[in-house]
Amino acid sequence: MIKYIKITGAREHNLKGFDLSIPHNKLIVVTGVSGSGKSSLAYDIVFREGQRRYLESINAYARQFMDRAGRPAVDNITGIRPAIAVSQNSLHRSSRSTVGTLTGVYDYLRLLFARYGVKSADSEIELKRSLFSFNSKFGACEYCRGLGVVDEIDADILIKDEKLTIREGAFEMTTPSGYIVYSQVTMDVLNTVCQAHGFNVDIPWQELSEAEKLIVLYGSEKIKVPFGKHTLE
Ligand SMILES: [Zn+2]
Repeated sequence: MIKYIKITGAREHNLKGFDLSIPHNKLIVVTGVSGSGKSSLAYDIVFREGQRRYLESINAYARQFMDRAGRPAVDNITGIRPAIAVSQNSLHRSSRSTVGTLTGVYDYLRLLFARYGVKSADSEIELKRSLFSFNSKFGACEYCRGLGVVDEIDADILIKDEKLTIREGAFEMTTPSGYIVYSQVTMDVLNTVCQAHGFNVDIPWQELSEAEKLIVLYGSEKIKVPFGKHTLE
């Protein structure tokens, strides 16, 4: 049996008190001319009521962290479920945006984990919401730092000839002007970095230690160098 959200007397904004049934578990598209009340129906009635009932179902402590939603202007709604809204507004979208952050579900999940999570017996960590945030160093995955993607250098592609030195062109992408494309750092600057670790750019790549190769590929913790965009000539 198909279940429905049944709305009677929808009067929010431009809506003139009509009745409507929306089937559960279907993709529903609301169409109409501008100003006909599409957003009022979707956001101000269906979503607001779904969210309101959801908030009523959780405890008062948790509710204080959430936006309160008023009751929509309808005679009656039945069959409504907890709802999330993904807005067409993309102003706040960034590389750290997820469905969770854009809908706010992420905040509820962090709260849920912080309130109802169970610590392991030997843990001294206090369960706080920041612990479950990928934007916090306590909560973020150490590998990708909470971004969900990791940029890595594929040495098999980058190294053209292991027998050559870096200055001679061991790298595939060394430019004629002396810039190394992947880092946009000049050969002299790169040599300064290498020298800070006791080697240089005039040693064949294959003779460098693994640790030295990692410094060339991923950088040094010992020395800071100016880093900027150069035109690639
Ligand atoms: Zn990760």
